[in-house]
Amino acid sequence: MEINKNSEEHHYGHNSYRDALTTVDDSGKRIWVFARKFKGKWFNRRKWVGYILFLFFISAPFIYIDGHQMLQFDFIHRKFVMFGSVFWPADFYLFVIGFIAFIIFIFLFTSILGRLWCGWACPQTIFMELIFRRIEYWIEGDAYAQRKLDNMEWNDGKVRKRGLKYFAFFVVSFLLSNIFLAYIIGSRELLKITEEPLSMHIGGLSSIVIFSGVFFFVYSYMREQVCTIICPYGRLQSVLLDSKTLIVGYDYKRGESREKWGKTRSEKAGDCIDCGQCVDVCPTGIDIRNGLQMECIHCTACIDACNSVMLKVNKQPDLIGYKSLDGIETGEKFRLNTRRKLYIALISVLLFILVLLLSTRSDVQADILRTPGLDYVMKSKDTVQNLYNVKILNKTFKNMAVELRLEDIPGHITTVGGKNISAAGEDYGEGIISVEIPKNQLQKADNPIRIGVYYNGKKLSNVKTTFMGPTI
Ligand code: SF4
Ligand code: SF4
Repeated sequence: MEINKNSEEHHYGHNSYRDALTTVDDSGKRIWVFARKFKGKWFNRRKWVGYILFLFFISAPFIYIDGHQMLQFDFIHRKFVMFGSVFWPADFYLFVIGFIAFIIFIFLFTSILGRLWCGWACPQTIFMELIFRRIEYWIEGDAYAQRKLDNMEWNDGKVRKRGLKYFAFFVVSFLLSNIFLAYIIGSRELLKITEEPLSMHIGGLSSIVIFSGVFFFVYSYMREQVCTIICPYGRLQSVLLDSKTLIVGYDYKRGESREKWGKTRSEKAGDCIDCGQCVDVCPTGIDIRNGLQMECIHCTACIDACNSVMLKVNKQPDLIGYKSLDGIETGEKFRLNTRRKLYIALISVLLFILVLLLSTRSDVQADILRTPGLDYVMKSKDTVQNLYNVKILNKTFKNMAVELRLEDIPGHITTVGGKNISAAGEDYGEGIISVEIPKNQLQKADNPIRIGVYYNGKKLSNVKTTFMGPTI
């Protein structure tokens, strides 16, 4: 992380906060974060983005296009459905290119906009901050009441509140796990689990129980530890961010020296009144005034908290806001540097290749191999015959009976059995074909040929194979 150390040390005087986790004490024990409830412009924006994404998450497995689930990631059968198109392991190269493009996009995006993803769109943050924490506030009250409840001896009231909270957490975890499973096995299959005897769906039921347990554990216990310790993307911040990245930052030039609000404030006091509200609302328990920290998920809570304080003390907002470290230090505007230009160039090339591959992606994959152990046969004095085994993978949802035609060379193809080879939607079809080519068209013993795969007169694929003939 290219941080302007001079300015940091000049201002903060020490970097010891980087040596310890704010949620772990000296003895290694977890310090529980009781984040204060807050309101504000940024929270409202984030809330709407989060609710729209959440709505999409819970509804996508129940939206069907042409009778097929809009999004399904069926790892069990290695079948992936996206917006009406089905992808198979044969399309793995598209995933690899798409994945590389996505990783580079993440690098670019993060180097420009920091952890915007974490604060605004990551399911972990959306579920934690917009669902589970809201339930917690509703049952246990704000941070002060939660801390008080936590510190008190067990009594009826504490058992009731904690019991209700964990029950609600488990119900939500159970619902989320059902949605999650619908992405894998399909929502229709999921509904069957509720309609048919459970003994018929032991596997699905076990998955729901395991997913529910994992969600419950994450949101009732792990919480911010997922973002600050476990998530690999969070760990990557130190290499992705630099001093020009837009981050949630504290304008120390304006804020320092911080002094409490009151009559004793000196002439040189900065705008920060050291009220600690920005720390109180932070879901990862950090003090943003210490500078950029890996624990910051850019949730904007501290911006809202500080803005409400600035409003009360009649000062300009955005003492904490979206800023770059260079911007705070020098007032310099954001510019694209060489690294970012390189990222943009790379991602443009990868996206172009991806779009090209997607647009030219065939609806079928055909494998045509000469029948093992068989040599060519002279059908007549002038005609040579080879037999081939054909395997057609139908990547679409509709049934297909494909026609095979010889390309670039005279001759003809007949299917053993007389009918075109059929492949049901999302399935394979197999057959044997006889290819006959006039002897005078063959140049050598091993002749490269191309066979076109047609459906309803439209060519879907070209397959290269070889045709054996007599040595001239
Ligand atoms: S420092 Fe501010 S933006 Fe970062 S996690 Fe804490 S409250 Fe959210
Ligand atoms: S909320 Fe603002 S004024 Fe209060 S301590 Fe944080 S930065 Fe200073």
